[in-house]
Amino acid sequence: MITPGTFELLATDPRSRARRGRLHTAHGVVETPVFMPVGTRGTVKAVSPRELEEAGAQVVLGNTYHLNIRPGMDVIEACGGLHRFMGWNGPVLTDSGGYQVFSLSRLRKVKHDGVEFNSHVDGSRIFLGPVEAMDIQRRLGADIAMVFDECAPYPCARDYACQSVDKTLRWAALCVEQPRAEGQLVFGIVQGGEHADLRERCARELVKTGFDGYAIGGVSVGEPPDVLLRGIDDSLTELPWRRPRYLMGVGKLWQILEAVARGVDMFDCVMPTRFARNGTAFTRRGRYPVKAGEYRLDTRPVEEGCTCYACRNFSRAYVRHLLNVNEIMGVRLLTLHNLHRYMTFMQEIRDAIAEGTFAALRESYRGLRGEKVNQNGENDD
Ligand SMILES: [Zn+2]
Repeated sequence: MITPGTFELLATDPRSRARRGRLHTAHGVVETPVFMPVGTRGTVKAVSPRELEEAGAQVVLGNTYHLNIRPGMDVIEACGGLHRFMGWNGPVLTDSGGYQVFSLSRLRKVKHDGVEFNSHVDGSRIFLGPVEAMDIQRRLGADIAMVFDECAPYPCARDYACQSVDKTLRWAALCVEQPRAEGQLVFGIVQGGEHADLRERCARELVKTGFDGYAIGGVSVGEPPDVLLRGIDDSLTELPWRRPRYLMGVGKLWQILEAVARGVDMFDCVMPTRFARNGTAFTRRGRYPVKAGEYRLDTRPVEEGCTCYACRNFSRAYVRHLLNVNEIMGVRLLTLHNLHRYMTFMQEIRDAIAEGTFAALRESYRGLRGEKVNQNGENDD
């Protein structure tokens, strides 16, 4: 086995900064650019690990905050770690819980070495800081652990963003010193809100500390599209070309393409799974509501030409019916389709970079950014 953390750059696009890479982890190889389905509480909602594998998923996300509250580390350790517990043998990346502490929990008290907060489940008092977050991720056995950071809101005043970066850097330096699971990689997270110089400073300092990979955090928190793209650029300028870069929580297809063009390798987002649960299908040409009345008699699959299990076997009319009468299978089929769409999209990107046709691929998806991109009124804002 090649040493975990080894990142091979296999091809680069001549007309952008897009790269085709391969990251080695303790549980296998990850071909990049990669999209990682979110399995917050130890499952990607509505699909089994076998179905994930069939869809082409390579890495699954877990969440420190949620898994620590329920079922608790004692349960997961007794069951042999997160991989065994959830029946997934591939790589697992765990979020540190920083984002959840700052977004979910009320009555939080930010302290020098972490955050004291009330559990969103039963209100009990919990403390989570860099030491605790790394201990949990070690016990989960995550292949990639994220540092415990503070995700600043948008908009964010300069003073607050500055303090938040200082805290994130101090905590990141602590995280990297903590004991790790065997072969576990640790990624630093660039913060700094919409302030270019703060993001640059944060990235520069993280690189001095030294991490296996670097993430761009504090994005997709309600900022307009141009601010998001600028945040990516500002974060990437100081990051080493030879380490993997991960854009956290960004999942619109056009955003993924633009980020790949800027040199991002890894993505995660709840969009394909969460949107499936409210009846939205993603297609190559945008997204549409499958529950809409106009599909009542539609005998076409959810997406024409798609090779997923749902599209090979069922009509749009059937999936629409299941969703409208709240049959579980409706959500399962649409989740399978949406995940397949995302995995196919990432494969297209990897192939295009390898073959030198990324610019054409990027151009072919340009319509996605606008509204009402096709005759079905589908769009991907
Ligand atoms: Zn499909």
